[in-house]
Amino acid sequence: MYGLINKGLIVSEKLLKWIRPEIRELSAYHVPDASGLVKLDAMENPYRLPEGLLPRWQQGLASVALNRYPDPAATELQHRLIEVMQVPQGRSIVLGNGSDELIQMLALAVASKQRCIMSFEPGFVMYSMIARFAGMEYVGVPLAEDFTLDMEKTRAAIEQHQPAVIFIAYPNNPTGNLFDADAVEEIIRIAPGLVVVDEAYHPFAQTSFMPRLNDYDQLLVMRTVSKMGLAGLRLGLLCGDRELINEINKVRLPYNINVLTQYTAGFILDNAGFLDGQAEMIRADREQLLSQLSLFEDIEVYPSQANFILFRVRQGNATEVFTSLCKDGVLIKNLDKPGPLQGCLRVTVGTTAENQAFIQALEHALHS
Ligand SMILES: *Cc1c(COP(=O)(O)O)cnc(C)c1O
Repeated sequence: MYGLINKGLIVSEKLLKWIRPEIRELSAYHVPDASGLVKLDAMENPYRLPEGLLPRWQQGLASVALNRYPDPAATELQHRLIEVMQVPQGRSIVLGNGSDELIQMLALAVASKQRCIMSFEPGFVMYSMIARFAGMEYVGVPLAEDFTLDMEKTRAAIEQHQPAVIFIAYPNNPTGNLFDADAVEEIIRIAPGLVVVDEAYHPFAQTSFMPRLNDYDQLLVMRTVSKMGLAGLRLGLLCGDRELINEINKVRLPYNINVLTQYTAGFILDNAGFLDGQAEMIRADREQLLSQLSLFEDIEVYPSQANFILFRVRQGNATEVFTSLCKDGVLIKNLDKPGPLQGCLRVTVGTTAENQAFIQALEHALHS
C-alpha cells in the first residue's frame, strides 16, 4: 500500500513536470454553483426564446443531420451574420465557438515569445489568460481611477511594448463604462499591430466601431451572441480586413461551429426581432437599477452602458455583503480584492423581479 502511494507521487511529479510552469501556476476559471439562486453573476440575458417560436425551432432541429460534420466555414450563417450585424461591404468575418475562441485564435496567429498582447486593467480576464496559454507576455495598462482610459499611460505603454494585439472592450467588463470614442480611435491610429474592439455588450450600448472598419485596416471588431441572449449557443464573430481574417482563419479548428449552433443561430437571426425587444427591456431595467442603487448612501455606483452594473461598498466589507446576498438567494459577482476593484461587486441586470429581489437583499445586507 505504502509503495503504491509513494510510486503514485513520483509518477505524477514525473509527468507534471512536462506541463509548462506558467500553466501549473494558474488556477482553472472558476464558475460558482448557482443552483437555487437568482443568477445575476454572468451577464446572461434572463429571457428565454419566446414560447411562440419553440414549435418551429424544434421542428427544424429534428431535421439537423447529427451524423454529418458541420459545414466547416458555416457559410450560410456567415452571410446572415454579415447582414444582421451590418458588417461593411468588402470586410470579412471568421466565426468562433464564443468570442473567447476568437481571442484564442488571434493569440495563436500572432504568438511568439518576444511579442505581447495588451489590454486595460481592470479588464476582461480572458485576454491575459489566453496570452499566457499562447506563451505570450501580457501587458495590462491601468485605467484612470474613474475607469476611463489613461491616454498618457496608454501612449507610453504602446511605445514601449509594441503590442502585437491591443484588446479594447467597448463597453468594458467588469467596469461597465464605454471608453471615449476619440481616445479609442487614437489607440487604433498609433498601434503598431492589430486593434480589436470587443463589442460583447453592443446591444446595450448602441454605439459601435463596426462602421469604422472601412477607415482602418488594423481594426478588427468582435461581437458575440452570448450577452444578447444566446450564451448557450457559443457563437462569436471577428470582422475586419479580408487578408487578415484569412490568416486568422488558418488556425481555426475546421468544425468549430457545431450543427446545432449553426441551425439554431440561423433560425433565431431569421426571427431576431424579439432579441431587440429583450435588449430594450434590459436597458430600461438597467436605468431603473442604476437609480435605485444611487439611493444607497453606503455604495458608489459606476455608470454603465452594458447589461451589468459595478458598484463599490464604501464602508465595511464587500465580501460580507456578497455572502449575505448569497444567503438571501441572490448570486452576483464578487470582485473584492486588493487593487483598483477593492470593495467592488458586479450585478447583472435580470428581470424586473430579479432586480427587485437583489435590491431587497442588498438593503438587508447593508442595514442589518
Ligand atoms: C463575456 C465577454 C466575452 C465572451 O463572450 P463569449 O462569446 O461568450 O465567449 C468577450 N468579451 C467580453 C468583454 C466579455 O465580457
